Amino acid sequence: MVCEVIKVGKECAFMSKKGCSFNGGKCYPIIDRCQGCERATVFPAGEYCIACPDPAVKWSGRDCNLATHIVKEKAPEAVRSVDPLKASKRKAAGR
Ligand code: SF4
Repeated sequence: MVCEVIKVGKECAFMSKKGCSFNGGKCYPIIDRCQGCERATVFPAGEYCIACPDPAVKWSGRDCNLATHIVKEKAPEAVRSVDPLKASKRKAAGR
């Protein structure tokens, strides 16, 4: 249903005919670590995340997995050691 509490006009899975069913009956504002994220959106009630109702929980323990402003470093690719003797045999066999 469409939210009528905080993110007014946004479709939300927590909204029901009885009101917001999320913890405390409302969403919670973004936290400092959300600054710069494209999902942080200004509503009349303040700045909230359009992807989750409680940003502090998203950041507890680890980085938010939905954040658009943090670049995750790729793990370096494992370098396979090549045995030159086996490689030449493979090449000779046409594999
Ligand atoms: S997606 Fe994560 S980082 Fe971005 S606003 Fe929401 S909780 Fe904050």
